[in-house]
Amino acid sequence: PAHAIARRKRTVLAEPRGFCAGVVRAIAMVEKSLEIHGPPVYVRKEIVHNQYVVASLQRRGARFVDSESDVPEGAVCVFSAHGVSPLVRDNAGARGLRVIDATCPLVSRVHQHARRGARDGRLVLLIGHADHEETQGTYGEAPDRTIVIDTVDDVDRTGLPADTPVTYLTQTTLSVDETAEVIDRIKARFTDVVAPGTDTICYASQNRQNGIKSLASRCDLILVVGARNSSNSLRMVDVARETGTRAHLVPDAADFDETWLKDVWTVGVSSGASVPEILVERLIDRLARLGYDDISTDVTSVEDVNFAVPSFLTTTTAAPP
Ligand code: SF4
Repeated sequence: PAHAIARRKRTVLAEPRGFCAGVVRAIAMVEKSLEIHGPPVYVRKEIVHNQYVVASLQRRGARFVDSESDVPEGAVCVFSAHGVSPLVRDNAGARGLRVIDATCPLVSRVHQHARRGARDGRLVLLIGHADHEETQGTYGEAPDRTIVIDTVDDVDRTGLPADTPVTYLTQTTLSVDETAEVIDRIKARFTDVVAPGTDTICYASQNRQNGIKSLASRCDLILVVGARNSSNSLRMVDVARETGTRAHLVPDAADFDETWLKDVWTVGVSSGASVPEILVERLIDRLARLGYDDISTDVTSVEDVNFAVPSFLTTTTAAPP
């Protein structure tokens, strides 16, 4: 019709998105280790779940290994942001490794709570995915006294008497929203429940999911930049889909499929906590070339969390020649 206003194709960027404070710190710790000790610096597991980050550190001399047992005796070994079990620590100690622990401080707090719960004679109900590195590390704090709980049904399946003293903890990359149901069931099922402090909740996962919900209310399609093994990125895609908005995970701009844009006027873009901004920029460029060049930002919260790199890495200036 003559009165129709020309619609523009738009891209809306979620803010905050991408790197969280734990990821920034972990990457900085590998970089500092390389500066101080020189290559090679061994890193146990992917420092963060992102192949771009891993590859760029590899180019600078980091060597990624699956186990501390793969690190030559006496070498420098960085533990990833997801944390490790005491068994791994002991094994590293026995091999004489020079350990640099990049475990996110939020994850370390969950470990503390697990130790405390077990020490107090409680059973630890660890809400998380059994195959996730972080959950495996936390589980290792008290394997005899911990049960991993993935779903509401798992709570009932424990088959424990209702008066069993329990404490529950959650994998940090799960948001408050997604653990709420399981926690409700734990509280309904058991009579003696200790809840963790709010200090174990990861602000980053929750904020990124809130951002997705906000995008979903104004976009026809949501693209989440993130790796296929990134728990929090995958979850962001789910959160979008739960609102009824079409959504896809985009590990890299090259994985983007133009057919997704059929009937789409507004594309929402965000990224997981382990994703460098350059990967988002590449996707934005691609979208702009396809006509989605009216770019705006949707701010849902302001993040000012910062985790300092330990001083033993920042005060040593002498790098070996
Ligand atoms: Fe730490 Fe949260 Fe980042 Fe995980 S997502 S590294 S818990 S800040």
